[in-house]
Amino acid sequence: MADEYPNQAIFERDDFTCRYCGWRGDRDFSNWFVANLSIDHIKPVSAGGTDSEANLVVACHSCNLYKGSHVCESFEEAKAFVELKRAQAEKWFNKHVLKR
Ligand SMILES: [Zn+2]
Repeated sequence: MADEYPNQAIFERDDFTCRYCGWRGDRDFSNWFVANLSIDHIKPVSAGGTDSEANLVVACHSCNLYKGSHVCESFEEAKAFVELKRAQAEKWFNKHVLKR
């Protein structure tokens, strides 16, 4: 295993914290390992996004899933999209999982 984390510069810039929801795993390895942090392309590579620093943000696994391959042109747009998807999922959760 390499000493350097992949995309280490991006993780350090974002302080190993999800830019979308602020999750930081409470610096607990067991939590961190389960939920994990990844690198999200604000504009997906499939839509012509690049690996430039401006197009990369640290995202937790769930935020990365909410974001999916949605094409965003700015961090603000991506954050708003993730928050919308999370709110929709929470609404679904409250309706179908909690009220049984
Ligand atoms: Zn997150």
